[in-house]
This record gives sequence, structure tokens and C-alpha cells, in this order.
Amino acid sequence: MALVGIARLAAQSELLDAKRAVQYFEIPARSILNRTKPHMPFQWTINPYRGCEFGCVYCFARYTHEFMELDARDFEDKIFAKSGAAHLLKQELGRVGRAEHIVIGTATDPYQPAERRYGRTRSILEVFARERGRYLGITTKSDLVLRDIDLLKEIARANVLGVNLTITTLDEKLARWLEPRAPRPALRLETVRRLSRAGICAAVLPNPIMPGITDGERQLDRLAKAARDAGALSFGGGPLFLMPAAQKVFLPFLEQRFPGLAPRYRELYAKSAYLGREYKETLQQRVRRIRERYGLAAGPIEYRPELWIEEQMDLWSWPPSTTTFPKS
Ligand code: SF4
Repeated sequence: MALVGIARLAAQSELLDAKRAVQYFEIPARSILNRTKPHMPFQWTINPYRGCEFGCVYCFARYTHEFMELDARDFEDKIFAKSGAAHLLKQELGRVGRAEHIVIGTATDPYQPAERRYGRTRSILEVFARERGRYLGITTKSDLVLRDIDLLKEIARANVLGVNLTITTLDEKLARWLEPRAPRPALRLETVRRLSRAGICAAVLPNPIMPGITDGERQLDRLAKAARDAGALSFGGGPLFLMPAAQKVFLPFLEQRFPGLAPRYRELYAKSAYLGREYKETLQQRVRRIRERYGLAAGPIEYRPELWIEEQMDLWSWPPSTTTFPKS
């Protein structure tokens, strides 16, 4: 069968490098900004890479490799760096409304090891450092984000910026099982501390919260307290969702590490990737209660940056071009 679209581009991608079992490719990107579905809290996403070397066993984004006719299990071993990311962003930013939120790192970690060498995320931040009045979020598990602290400070002076560190557990052993190649939780908390000291709004996301593994009241409470102590301003999370591509990795993991939980998970996720309303509501209440205990916000912090631009009316395009003036 002839490959088409992204699968064809992936097959033609040039191999940039390989280490251990990981191979790095360059993939041509047609676009760098992706519109989200209407119910999302942000309107645009940017993912400078495809695949993610951190290899979290619960990663929902594995399906993106299936689009490229690759196995979901290749997600952490075949990493694609998008070419021309910054150039594309400059061309496409005009499509983003001033009140719309952009998040970097929703389907891949923008600070995974590949970023040390290819710098795609940094090139994107350099574009944002020249912008004013944007809403930008970055989600990562990596302390490598601290490399860009100079740019982050510059962006935060003229745009509303938030950096989210994902920490599912403080238990080092459990973290090693769940997120085999990601930085240790203590390193991520230290990253929150250093961002906060630099004046950057930081959040801790305990996502995804896994039933019977990381959803305990005491576990979440410890995490929220540690987040607050490190200087995080927000703490918000939701339950695990498990699409078929993610199940291929997560269910065998459960059989190996949590055999007692595996049958229940199979049952829970047999018909849908999402958990039922009752569990979601109970979890929401738990997270809300804990958040309130530590005075943490639910979402990004709205602040007025020093160099903010006011929304101005554009007189040159007024009245709208569709208006026809009566002929004199
Ligand atoms: S860091 Fe995020 S994108 Fe990377 S494997 Fe883990 S969950 Fe997936």
C-alpha cells in the first residue's frame, strides 16, 4: 500500500542521529500551530517534535506515531524533529487572536533530550520573545527548561506566560516505573523553585491521575504541598484516559507491576478511553479540596505584564471592507 500524507513524510525523513535504541529524524512540517477542539482551555498547540524519549507508560500521544504507520511502541525510540519550526510560526502567528491561548508541549515534551541538540523549542521561544500581548503556556517534565530562563523572562515581560511541570508522583521508584526516562520528581520540583524565583508563573500538574496508583488523597496532598512550597501557583489535574494505542503499553505495564489492578483497568477502559462521570466528579472534588488547602489556583495565572499592549481599534481597517459606501 502506498504511504500518503504524514506517513509518507515520515518514511522519507532523513536520519539525523542515533543513540542507544533511539533514532532521530528530521521531518518537514507544513504547519506548526494546531487548532484545538472547541471545549479545550487553550485554542492552539505547538509540538516541536513527534515522539518523546521520556517514554511514559501512560502517554496518550502514542497514537500520533500510528498516523505515520509506526507502532505506538516506537513513540519513545523514533523521534522526529520538525524542520523550519520558527519560520513557520512567524508566518502563522497572525492567525492567532490576541485573547487566544497557545500551549507548547501537549503531545510531546518540548524539553526532551532531543532539544539539547536540535533546539527547536528554543527557536520557537525566540519568536515569542519578539511578541507582545500573547498568552503562552509550556508543559514539560524536564529541568532543561531552565536553560531558556533568559528567554522566558523576556517573554513574561510582554506576554502572559505560565510554565507547567508535570509531576505524577513524588515516589522516585514509582516515577521510574511510570516515566522511565524522564527527570526525577525532585529535579522537577527544583525546576519549579527556580522558575518561581526568577519570577515566572509555575504550575504543577499531577496529570494523568491514575486510579489506584496516584489518586490517593494523601499522595495528592503531599504533592500539592510540595508544589506550593516550591513556589507553584497552580495545581490542576484530571484522570487518565487510555486510547487503544496507549493501552498497548499501559496494560502490559499493569500486568507486570500492578497485577491486582490490571483486570479492573481492562474492565474500566474496555468501552471507552475515558473514565465514568462518577469517578471524574469524585476526583475533581478531591483535587479542588487539596488545592484550596494550599491556596493554589486551578489554572494559568492571569497577570498584567510590564510591557502589555492594550487592545486597540484598528482605524485603518474600519469600516469593515464588506461595507459599501453610498456613491456621491
Ligand atoms: S513526557 Fe509527555 S509526551 Fe513525553 S512520553 Fe511522557 S506523557 Fe508522553
